[in-house]
Amino acid sequence: MTSTQELIERNTKFAETFQDAELPIIPKLRSVILTCTDARVDPAHLFDLELGDSVVIRNNGGRLTSSALDEVITLSILVSTMDGGEPGPFNLVLVQHTKCGAERFADPPIQKMILDRTGVDVSESAIHDHHESLGSDVERLRDDPRVPDHVVVSALIYDVDTGRVEQVLAPKAVSEMRAS
Ligand SMILES: [Zn+2]
Repeated sequence: MTSTQELIERNTKFAETFQDAELPIIPKLRSVILTCTDARVDPAHLFDLELGDSVVIRNNGGRLTSSALDEVITLSILVSTMDGGEPGPFNLVLVQHTKCGAERFADPPIQKMILDRTGVDVSESAIHDHHESLGSDVERLRDDPRVPDHVVVSALIYDVDTGRVEQVLAPKAVSEMRAS
């Protein structure tokens, strides 16, 4: 059996008890979680999410790459229009994790090998140090004038060995960061 068949069978069981029709499109927790693609860090499990609780964006490392930034900006604008012009809370939660594969992207020979073979520059996803890369992602968000002031950002590091998160940055509005 391929994994696709396995997934379809699991979905059949899921659909048997499904009771979540008509959920609102704006997530209940008013949050966008940006995290790594790593199968060990599925936010639905880490944060006990239910359907409709949170938007989740995932990429290698959970970095705020230019494409992730574009997604966040687009979503923040879209949600504001749904809120009737009066923007409601928009919480962006950056979640990186220990033992992340993106730490390997910090190795210059690996960066070069991937660039040579594929033309893909992984330096945006590279993680030298989690605190440092979360800090630079927060700065990138603050410094991009397209990001609305009302976006609130926080940062967490998830430990794959303990299942616990460490809060690296408490929730802070982009407007506050820009004022300081
Ligand atoms: Zn990872």
